[in-house]
Amino acid sequence: MSVLPRSIQQLINEFSRLPGIGPKSASRLAFFLLRGADPNQAVDLANALVALKENTRFCSICHNITEDDPCVICTNEERDSTLMCVVEEPLDLVAIERSRAFKGRYHVLHGSISPVEGIGPDDLTIESLVKRIDAGEYSEVIIATNATLEGDTTARYLERRLASFGLKLSSLARGLAVGSDLEYTDEVTLSRALQGRQEL
Ligand SMILES: [Zn+2]
Repeated sequence: MSVLPRSIQQLINEFSRLPGIGPKSASRLAFFLLRGADPNQAVDLANALVALKENTRFCSICHNITEDDPCVICTNEERDSTLMCVVEEPLDLVAIERSRAFKGRYHVLHGSISPVEGIGPDDLTIESLVKRIDAGEYSEVIIATNATLEGDTTARYLERRLASFGLKLSSLARGLAVGSDLEYTDEVTLSRALQGRQEL
């Protein structure tokens, strides 16, 4: 039994469930909010969390996070609808957008294939990707998965899966450090990796 008031213990428990937060950090965060300098901070955080679930969803076309479905990228007529970039996570898309080097469409997989963690192709949005390519007018698909074992496994799977469509398949130039996540890659490096992309 915890000697802490239930409301504080509950908050500590919730923080502990977040990735990268141990029990110690969870306690520190909870007490920070309890006696923080800004009295509105806890309420602002609570409101942001409620809004996160109420106002955001996944785009039914590209699976990016969005407030409107379809998202602003899928509905933008000025973007090249013959070019598609496949990424693992919404933050990878954000990183590529920041580089301003890509003006096509996206597809967010929501993860990567990882036999160790029991994540297979069916756990990702691959079926939806195949359907989009089948129904669309794409001439090139850039597979921009992370430079990790899982990212490479996913890229190889997609390569096989999309081979029959007769379109150009390419991957980012490996100026990217091995083991690196796209979301942490700076704009210049990403822009170069896109421009120097190689056909698979
Ligand atoms: Zn979309």
